[in-house]
Amino acid sequence: MRDASELSGILTRIDGAGYKAYKDIRGSWSLPPFTLFIDHVQGDPYAAPSRIRLRLDAAYAAFPPGTTSTRIRTIACEEFVARVARAEASRHSRPIGTGGGGRIHVDAGGQEILERTAARVTGEYAELRLSVGLPARGRRVMGRAAADILTVAVPATGEVSLFHDRLPLSGLADHIDAAEDHEHLSALLPEMGLIAFVADGSVLPRESGISDRPLASSGVVPFRSPDALRLEVDLPHRGLISGMGVREGVTLIAGGGFHGKSTLLEALSLGIYPHVPGDGRELVASRNNTVKVCAEDGRGVESVNISAFISNLPGGIDTACFSTENASGSTSQASYIIEAVEMGAGAFLIDEDISATNFLIRDARMQRLIAKEKEPITPYIDMVRHLYEDHGISTVLVLGGAGDYFDVADTVIAMEEFLPMDVTTRAREIATEIPTPRLEEGESLRLDIERRRPDPSSLDPEKGGKPVIKCRGLTSIQLGRTDIDLTALMQLNDRSQTRAICGYLRLLPRELSSSRELKGAIEAISSRIEREGLEVLSQYPGEHPGDLAFVRPFEVAGAVNRLRTLKVLDR
Ligand code: ADP
Ligand code: MG
Repeated sequence: MRDASELSGILTRIDGAGYKAYKDIRGSWSLPPFTLFIDHVQGDPYAAPSRIRLRLDAAYAAFPPGTTSTRIRTIACEEFVARVARAEASRHSRPIGTGGGGRIHVDAGGQEILERTAARVTGEYAELRLSVGLPARGRRVMGRAAADILTVAVPATGEVSLFHDRLPLSGLADHIDAAEDHEHLSALLPEMGLIAFVADGSVLPRESGISDRPLASSGVVPFRSPDALRLEVDLPHRGLISGMGVREGVTLIAGGGFHGKSTLLEALSLGIYPHVPGDGRELVASRNNTVKVCAEDGRGVESVNISAFISNLPGGIDTACFSTENASGSTSQASYIIEAVEMGAGAFLIDEDISATNFLIRDARMQRLIAKEKEPITPYIDMVRHLYEDHGISTVLVLGGAGDYFDVADTVIAMEEFLPMDVTTRAREIATEIPTPRLEEGESLRLDIERRRPDPSSLDPEKGGKPVIKCRGLTSIQLGRTDIDLTALMQLNDRSQTRAICGYLRLLPRELSSSRELKGAIEAISSRIEREGLEVLSQYPGEHPGDLAFVRPFEVAGAVNRLRTLKVLDR
């Protein structure tokens, strides 16, 4: 294999040449103890950065078996390596010349611990996947600066991250333990009859509306379970912990404005992921089929059977196969729910703040004024028990303004100054003292779980003769000529997850043409990922995709459902 001096030699030779000359450095290089793979060389200084890998033989990396003995440990270990590498890479990263020259980047996580492709630790090697902006003056190669990056800065990043013994070892251990405890806690939920658990002492509020970090203020009120809902759980690392169990069924979270209701629901929604030590939500876990839904007026909907919730739309619009370019608040929220049911949702999280009021409730006076025949919506209050009793789908609903829900809730929690109180008994008493005059409307409910078969050609990413599937940030994907708005997918929390969705979108048409249903097609890709790794989502076969992270089938389906060109084949 060619060595560092040959690499520097080439870079000296092409110094000042046109940018394309950089193609000469593709391939593998021996930079003892590392091997450097230059997989992709960018076409010009403004293009997406070049992709390289730095590999260290396991004999040197020397990760002890305990760090990678299970899937979750491996995920946490690799995730930690990526964080250390990102910090070191950013120390060496500085703008040089034109475009993105001089940037060195390793993709790593935020507050969640997610499987990623940025670093791999296997029985044979430890490996980093980096993006590097090869420097240019104008469009001419800056050979010496490039040699510095590739033979000095990149190995320096590996020096601190790829050798087990050089890592901050207590940090690594804590990281792995946190992920493992979360996995353990999640696995206990079903057998305990819970859909979620929030440990006493958890810190749920975040720094700000745009930051995921824990609120660090003397005013933070750590979570404390009401006695009646407190359970104990034994975890492999934390040992015996206590906290609030959110039971299957219907849970209402009431309480005054600004008392922490939405913050609790948000913590439950992200409880599907493990969190980093110090996050405050490490011991918050939710079942992995929990879906937070909302209203999204204006979204497109394609052939969704929302007739359980909505029928008799004006103009005789068919709600058993409902399609629209421009959904209303209530029809969008109904579609969101039915689409999630199609994918196998086990629990819904609903917040009044982002819901359509008429979807949630219709009170007695309104029932008197607007006859049932004139109101297309069967409100959620009349559906929520059917969902649970007939389909096993639980709901946690944040609602400060409608006591009619007391009749349908199994548990009522009131948030008071950021602390939950169990007020179930009191709510029941009130429901008897003041019986609701409203009439139940859900008697006609029929929720058919239908599996739609999208037309593969409606996912065609063609634009101007070539396929375009691009992540444009956390909540936006460009597919061909259309943009998909993912703002409503609130459990999508990392750009690398959005990139992973792009990978699914790339593979889906093929999977769908073997005439599979949306759910089956997405799951087929997910099982391939489980066998072969997230790398199967790579846009560049055979080259590293160092910037992908785990994403659930729910979010993938969420993107497909929001694709405005989507067409579903006739049932
Ligand atoms: P609600 O939904 O009940 O109106 P929010 O959950 O939006 O209330 O919370 C209101 C504010 O209080 C937010 O700024 C939030 O960050 C903060 N907050 C929430 N929980 C706590 C807590 N446990 N300790 C301190 N501040 C909190
Ligand atoms: Mg709120």
